[in-house]
Amino acid sequence: MKAHIVTLPGDGVGPEVTAAAVAVLQAVAKHGGHAFQFEEHAIGGSAIDAFGEPLPNASLDACKRADAVLLGAVGGPKWSDPNAKVRPDKACWRCARRWACTPTCARCRCIRRWPNLSPLKNEKLKNVDVLFVRELTGGTYFGAKTRTDDTATDECKYTVHEIERVVRRAFDLARGRRKHLTSVDKANVLETSRLWRSTVQRIAPDYADVTVEHQLVDSMAMLLLTQPSHYDVVVTENLFGDILTDEAAAIAGSLGLLPSASLGDGRNGLYEPIHGSAPDIAGKGIANPTGAILSAAMLLRHSLHLDAEAAAIEAAVDQVLRDGPHTRDIGGDAGTAAVRDAVLRALDHHAETSSASFAGARA
Ligand code: NAD
Ligand code: MN
Repeated sequence: MKAHIVTLPGDGVGPEVTAAAVAVLQAVAKHGGHAFQFEEHAIGGSAIDAFGEPLPNASLDACKRADAVLLGAVGGPKWSDPNAKVRPDKACWRCARRWACTPTCARCRCIRRWPNLSPLKNEKLKNVDVLFVRELTGGTYFGAKTRTDDTATDECKYTVHEIERVVRRAFDLARGRRKHLTSVDKANVLETSRLWRSTVQRIAPDYADVTVEHQLVDSMAMLLLTQPSHYDVVVTENLFGDILTDEAAAIAGSLGLLPSASLGDGRNGLYEPIHGSAPDIAGKGIANPTGAILSAAMLLRHSLHLDAEAAAIEAAVDQVLRDGPHTRDIGGDAGTAAVRDAVLRALDHHAETSSASFAGARA
């Protein structure tokens, strides 16, 4: 397969972890006989320094032409002055609104089982693999805001159209997994949640092979910790998704481990690790590249439909997380390059031993 992948390494550890992810994608291309073409563009603070804005038009245009986009991270103390006219995080919103998330947004985060890295007991972590689908452009964050000296409001508004596109995406993703969908709302008190729930109920018969359950968000916050392995795909609105996915990151054990995807209606999504630019460790070669590498796996699965390749990367990462080397954030002393090389070796080994599931499977 031919694919045109735009990389936006960004700031801080962004370039370090993105380079590791690109090396892994290049290895996958070599093993699977694919032609991946990479095109690098500026984003964030480094784009402000070079071009005066956080997401130059050249970067955005390249994203629109790409089959998929791989983002590192943006921001850092150099660009954090709250009174500054241009700020790096603007780039993300511009990206989200004008490109990857228009018209649909589903933000997914995966949590897989990596023993000993989590505050939860090991027996709770068995078979944990949750995909969160978070609506990303509606709800409280984007509603009308008012403010007087002693009163403030944030409007929460959802249309059936907005709910339906993210819920259908979640059903589709559940079909490719364990066929279990949990819809999270607060339908006992919120009108938007009642619209959300009735929309899910109306759509559900179109996906008769997927079992659906509804969970109130407050009890979901508890159940995610007490029975995390129960969940397969979780779909929810913007604010609830923001909070639950951070709770989920804690279950995995480090911010450096988790990937995410912003999926538009088309196939060209935006993929990025969930962590920020980690200025405290930038430039030292010690960032954990796992979240970025797993984001590359999500890119292969969701934008390029190369499921076997995605699974091969995930298996290689699982092996390295199990056997080491480990970066400092998860208790080891290895650098970014050592982890990258270990993942590459595991991928090579996988390609040698199971060529049938790699290139050979697709005739
Ligand atoms: P952060 O995620 O950058 O760092 C939080 C902590 O986690 C730090 O101690 C850091 O060293 C550690 N960490 C993060 N990623 C790691 C990795 N790959 N390996 C090892 N350790 C890792 O969050 P922050 O410190 O709150 O924010 C720093 C900057 O990043 C800010 O400017 C913020 O605005 C920006 N940010 C960007 C994004 C994004 O690009 N999507 C997301 C969050 C924060
Ligand atoms: Mn958040």
